[in-house]
Amino acid sequence: MRLVLLGAPGSGKGTQAARLKEHLQVPHISTGDLLRAEVAAGSKLGLEAKGVMARGELVSDAILLGMLEDRFSRSDTSNGFILDGYPRNLAQAAALDGLLGRMKQSFDYAVKLRVATELLVERIAGRAKAEGRADDTPESVRTRLQIYNNQTAPVIDYYRQHGQLTVVDGVGSLDEVFTRILEAISSGHEVG
Ligand code: ADP
Repeated sequence: MRLVLLGAPGSGKGTQAARLKEHLQVPHISTGDLLRAEVAAGSKLGLEAKGVMARGELVSDAILLGMLEDRFSRSDTSNGFILDGYPRNLAQAAALDGLLGRMKQSFDYAVKLRVATELLVERIAGRAKAEGRADDTPESVRTRLQIYNNQTAPVIDYYRQHGQLTVVDGVGSLDEVFTRILEAISSGHEVG
């Protein structure tokens, strides 16, 4: 199963991806996690990305594509993957099609977790207290939500127009949302 998980910051992509990974036995590829690992390792790429991420802005498309190419070149992705945090703009959506095309692959579903903005802000504030992520400051959260609305929403429209989008209600318990995702990907496309 090849899945692309879409949704605003705080929509629960990371949490659901971790569960899907266990259930589907395919790797979870989170571009945010890959970038945070580079920052933690103090690599050149990490140093470049650190400030951009703390401000809630997008790291360059070229860096992201290089990182993804690297990750997809590992053999564990041959049975599938859950991609989380990518694509975040139309250029990245085109780059993903190109990358998968070169590997003679495509994805099965783009699943969007739908959560109202007020609830997103609330959830991120809760996470900020619990995890202390460097980019969960009010300023950065505003920027991330703005970028999501301006740059990532067109990606969702693009997948919708291509009949590749499945929208899942992201409000409810973790189990409820998980069950909805599984239903959506086993019962075929519910274009929303
Ligand atoms: P969230 O979904 O809460 O915004 P992520 O862990 O997905 O968190 O991403 C954290 C940060 O990493 C983003 O705000 C951005 O700076 C960077 N990042 C992650 N994925 C991408 C991407 N596809 N393109 C550009 N920057 C990215």
